[in-house]
Formats: sequence, structure tokens, C-alpha cells
Amino acid sequence: MNSTPVCLCATAPPDSIVPNRVSLLRRTDSHCCAKLVLPASGQPAVVATEGSPMPLLRSALIALSRNRPLRRWSERTRLGLRFSARFVAGMEIGDALRVAETLNRQGMTVSLDSLGESVTSEAEAEAAAGVYHRLLDEIAARRLDAHISVKLTQMGLNLSPALAESIVESLVRHAQATGSFVRIDMEDSSRTEATLGLVRRLHARPELGGAIGAVIQAYLYRSQADIEQLVAEGVRVRLCKGAYDEPPAVAFPRKADVDANFIRLSGRLLDSGLYHGLATHDEAMIAAAKSYASRQGIAPTRFEFQMLFGVRRDLQRRLVEEGYKVRVYLPFGSDWYPYLMRRLAERPANMLFLARNLFRL
Ligand SMILES: Cc1cc2nc3c(=O)[nH]c(=O)nc-3n(C[C@H](O)[C@H](O)[C@H](O)COP(=O)(O)OP(=O)(O)OC[C@H]3O[C@@H](n4cnc5c(N)ncnc54)[C@H](O)[C@@H]3O)c2cc1C
Repeated sequence: MNSTPVCLCATAPPDSIVPNRVSLLRRTDSHCCAKLVLPASGQPAVVATEGSPMPLLRSALIALSRNRPLRRWSERTRLGLRFSARFVAGMEIGDALRVAETLNRQGMTVSLDSLGESVTSEAEAEAAAGVYHRLLDEIAARRLDAHISVKLTQMGLNLSPALAESIVESLVRHAQATGSFVRIDMEDSSRTEATLGLVRRLHARPELGGAIGAVIQAYLYRSQADIEQLVAEGVRVRLCKGAYDEPPAVAFPRKADVDANFIRLSGRLLDSGLYHGLATHDEAMIAAAKSYASRQGIAPTRFEFQMLFGVRRDLQRRLVEEGYKVRVYLPFGSDWYPYLMRRLAERPANMLFLARNLFRL
């Protein structure tokens, strides 16, 4: 067995990450946070986790993502707009649709996200839903290979779960009628139960035709049980690692355990026979899924990889060339600040990358 340790804590810019994981490990050995062993089978096994300053920085950035004055300032300045451009498709629907058309031409499907979360009035929730209804009409009119991704707190979940459910129901009805699909993003763990309950109730309504899907986060202990339930009910799942700062009472604190759970849950989803999405930029996770699918005789067209707009575009293109399905999560709109801060929390090295871009513009 080849027992080369591989660093998961890359520091290169998004488009040139990890050309050679072994040399990367040597360069960053002193501060990497977790290591895998790649056995000859290509199926990673987690072997070690080290202390690292990254978790602290991650928590600080997630805390900053909730800072209202900083958010107001960033979203209104030219500097902020320049900063967001790498990871946000634009401020208007038209910008996002143009990018979606380009991605479709490049062989990728799209999940459109009208940025915004935690609205504070019913009018705001209805206005946010209005943007999604427009998107569904545009997707149909332009014959885009795209669907929408929606956050329940943007649909009024904090104000009234019943309001959020009726708004989402009308979106799913619209998506079903136009041959599209509504993915409900997963937010922090205080909303997991309400979010999955809503998805399962709407999925069970035959007239909505299964046009709704859930997201499961591999960092939560409960996710294995949630996946069993969703798969048994025929709900399509997007599996991701999880982007929020969760306490050890509900989530694996060690990245190595999150990675191991992601691989375990990917296998369970691939075995289910339903069409699911594996949302990750992590080459070790992708390699494990590819190798598992090929060993089980699951065709590359029976599932999709999903990645964020602006992240690992080289990898997105490569997977399409190899015959895999790739969906790009495409956020747009002026409420970009919390989204961007979570992306920086995932990979603080992106701060340097964005700063360099800023001076180049
Ligand atoms: C399509 C999609 C939808 C998502 N939806 C949700 C959701 O609904 N709820 C939720 O909680 N989270 C969501 N996420 C975020 C997800 O939970 C992770 O926080 C995020 O994807 C980072 O994890 P990773 O698996 O990509 O790899 P990580 O373990 O974070 O990193 C592995 C490697 O991937 C690369 N990488 C990862 N992130 C970045 C980045 N931002 N910039 C550049 N390189 C990077 C680096 O090479 C890194 O070394 C979503 C992610 C994707 C791709």
C-alpha cells in the first residue's frame, strides 16, 4: 500500500491548487491541519489531524460574516464589489443568466442562488421569492440547463415556518410546471430539523413531482440517519461538508472525521440508485467517489459533482472532459457579504488571492 500522507490544507490560488499533493505536503508540513493516506485503491483513509491556527481563523471569519456594520459597508463600496467579483456572478439577474448560458455551453449545469438570508419581514421574503419566480421563467424561456437553490431563512423561516413553507411550495409548483427543480440549501444546525421536515413534506406531495431536494452536511453526526430517511423516501440529496461554525455536541470537530464521513455518505448516496449531487472541491473526495462508482458499476451520468462559481475552475473543466456531470453553484445579487465571508472561512488563503486580484483590476 502506498502510504504517502497528503495535506488537505492547500495554500495555492483556486485555479492552480494541488498540482502535486506530495510536494505540497512537504512545503506546508508545519501548518497543515489534516492528512490522508492514499492506498493503492485510491480510496482515502484518514490517518492524522494536527493542531492548526486555521480553525481559529475560520471561526473568526464566520463570526465576521454576521457583522452587520461591516456587511453594510462592504456591500455598498466599490472596493467591496471588486472583492466579490471572483465568487459572485454579478449584481443582477441578467448577469447570472449570461454566466449560466456560458457555463451550459461549456457542458456544465447550473444552480442559481439569489443571494440573501435571514429576512426580517414578510414583504422581504415575498420579494426574494419573486426573484426566484422570475429566474424559473427565464430558465424555461432561455432553455437553460439550470435549477434554483433557496435558503429558508430568505423565505421567512425566522418569521414563520408556515410562511416559508407556503412560499417554497409555490416555487416548487412553478419549478415542477417548467421542468426545473428547487434545492433547499442547508443553513446552520438550528435549522436542520425544520429544513428537512419541510423538504420531506413537500416531496411527499405527488402533484409537486419530486421537484424539491435537500442538502446534507457531512460534519453533522445526524447526517447518516438523515440520509437513510431521505433515500428511503426518494428525496434527492446534495452532500457537502458543511460551512457553518458548529459545536462539538452536534458536529465532528476534526476535519479528518468530516472527510471520512463525506466519503462514507457519498457511497451510501451512490448506492441508492437516485440522482444525487456531491458538492466538494476536494480532490480526495472526488477521487474516492469516482473510484467507488466505477467499482460498483455506477455510470458517471448517474450522479453529479457540484462546485462553487469561481472555485477550482480547472477541476470543473477536467471533470466535464472526463465525462462526469458538473453543476456550478452560481450566486448573484447585492447581498453577497455573508456568502463571501463563508468562502473565505473555508479557505483563508483566498484572502490573499482576492487581495492580489484587487490590485490587478
Ligand atoms: C455546490 C455547493 C453547494 C454548497 N451548499 C452548501 C449548503 O447548502 N450548506 C452548507 O453548509 N455548505 C454548503 N456548501 C459549502 C460546503 O459545505 C463546504 O464548506 C465547501 O464546499 C468547502 O468544502 P470542500 O468539500 O470543497 O473542501 P475543503 O475540505 O474545505 O477543502 C478541500 C480543498 O478544496 C479546495 N477548496 C475548498 N474550498 C475552497 C474555496 N472556497 N476556494 C478555493 N479552494 C477551495 C482547496 O483545494 C482545499 O484544499 C456548498 C458547497 C458547494 C460546492
